[in-house]
Amino acid sequence: MPTAPDRAPTAPTIGVLALQGDVREHLRHLDALGVATLAVRRVEELERCDGLVLPGGESTTIVRLARIFGLLEPLRAAIAAGLPVLGTCAGMILLADRVLDGEPGQETLGGLDVTVRRNAFGRQVDSFEGPVRMVGLDEPVHGIFIRAPWVEEAGPDVEVLARVEGEALAGAADGRIVAVRAGHLLATSFHPEVGDDLRVHRLLLDLVERRATAGR
Ligand code: GLN
Repeated sequence: MPTAPDRAPTAPTIGVLALQGDVREHLRHLDALGVATLAVRRVEELERCDGLVLPGGESTTIVRLARIFGLLEPLRAAIAAGLPVLGTCAGMILLADRVLDGEPGQETLGGLDVTVRRNAFGRQVDSFEGPVRMVGLDEPVHGIFIRAPWVEEAGPDVEVLARVEGEALAGAADGRIVAVRAGHLLATSFHPEVGDDLRVHRLLLDLVERRATAGR
């Protein structure tokens, strides 16, 4: 029987789905947190992960490539089995169970009981940035929104971690949900991999640690 992987429980392996999008920035953030990192393009790589980041990019393209690479069903199965995942921007769309304003028939990986609206801020402003207060973090994060989705509806077990607030940030979108957590899944509309703030990625590591502790 194979023995346990030869890594300490304190140094988990975190993958970044590397089919399209801002993969390198996420890897850099995870490296800075001292975990082992892995660009995931194959099932064998996915299987080595204790946690996963679904990056920003283009959700329709990522799903199409995931199918071509034979990763779509393995990703769904891994999420259903409890793999901790952080989805950012397009990654939030991938985690969502339901999508509004998607392409006709747009598929997701699912797992997160939310309805997201794709390119939600686009009618007012395509891209913008500003401070976002997040549950569990003392200081706001600098939220960078690029053709971002928002969470239109969240199921009863979904914890709202952040909303856009204030005229400067989003005007008519004031109050929209832009970060959520449910069980082992975490998602932000914005791009926490830009800049040097590691706190959102650390929240993913918390989920990984929690799962490891639960399994011990
Ligand atoms: N609008 C993109 C999508 O629908 C997401 C944009 C992003 O990830 N920066 O997938």
